[in-house]
Amino acid sequence: MKPNTAVLQMDPYKPPSSGRDGFLRLDFNENTVGCSPRVVRALMRALNREMLTVYPEYESCRAEMAAAFGSSGDDILLTNGTDDALLLLMNTFVEPSHRIVVAEPCFAMYRFYASLMGAEVIGVHRGKRFEFPEDGVREELRRGARAVFIDNPNNPTGTVVTPEYIESLAREFPQTLVVVDEAYYDFYGKTALPLRHKYTNLVITRTFSKAQGLAGIRLGLIFASTETAAHLRKAHSPYNVNGLAVVAGLAALRDRQYPRRYAKAIVAARKYLERELRRLKIDYIPSAANFVLAQFGERAIEMRDALRSRGILVRDRSYEAPGWVRVTVGTMPQMKRLVRELERL
Ligand code: PMP
Repeated sequence: MKPNTAVLQMDPYKPPSSGRDGFLRLDFNENTVGCSPRVVRALMRALNREMLTVYPEYESCRAEMAAAFGSSGDDILLTNGTDDALLLLMNTFVEPSHRIVVAEPCFAMYRFYASLMGAEVIGVHRGKRFEFPEDGVREELRRGARAVFIDNPNNPTGTVVTPEYIESLAREFPQTLVVVDEAYYDFYGKTALPLRHKYTNLVITRTFSKAQGLAGIRLGLIFASTETAAHLRKAHSPYNVNGLAVVAGLAALRDRQYPRRYAKAIVAARKYLERELRRLKIDYIPSAANFVLAQFGERAIEMRDALRSRGILVRDRSYEAPGWVRVTVGTMPQMKRLVRELERL
């Protein structure tokens, strides 16, 4: 069977996501110590045949999430991770031939899901030091675009745009959906969340995959105006978030100290790593997230492989930014181990 035209024309997306057991995993920006033990206990308590037998219920979970974020409840949706949120946004708002704007490099799934819709993806190049191309993006939106996707902080560079810039886009381009992906919010601390009630074209996504350490369970959130959220709810599959994710998400939400403490430790370790990179004369991009993009030059792939043979996984990004390798920031002892190996190599 021939797939549809959009799928025929797409490049496959294949992250190297197997055989990672036993390594120090600094390749996917996950939490490097694991989720809160309270989440595990909540899952163990909840796990029984009955809860696996019935379809998941979301209302009380959504209400508690909404209360925690100061929301009404009508303006928030649970999703099966950010990926599901992106697909839902595309399904709800994007049609074939619509123009979708991204600032590249960025999280690969924006291009992936937009291409799947048959949309035209406009990749505006970031600056020399990967700074956000504010004028270039504005220029493309002026030409007319259905949506712009901004990861803030950006993956893979850790650079950011200000809430003021985001607000200016939402204000100047009311016909364009402005999607702000705040997957790394906990490590940065600035958010566009309060703006969502002011601009019906502004949408914010969050995930439990990073600071909360729940990438394996798949849980994310969409925040939007009540009007936009109503459209999204209409297009959403009824049972896309599983019952265990609901239990884990609630337990994570109730244990606010855990991601806070983790993010604090990671920001301290990031400062340490950045200092050590300067000492080793390895160029890097100052980061607001739980990873740092470092320039390993022509040795990028060799370094990645050598680190792997020493038990450490990092992510080479040469395919989009030659010589640049993305390293997830873990705890201080983990970063000391990394620096020791970098020094040897
Ligand atoms: N957004 C960004 C910017 C990311 O880097 C990632 C993870 N690589 C995600 C979203 C994925 O989040 P989720 O696990 O919630 O699908």
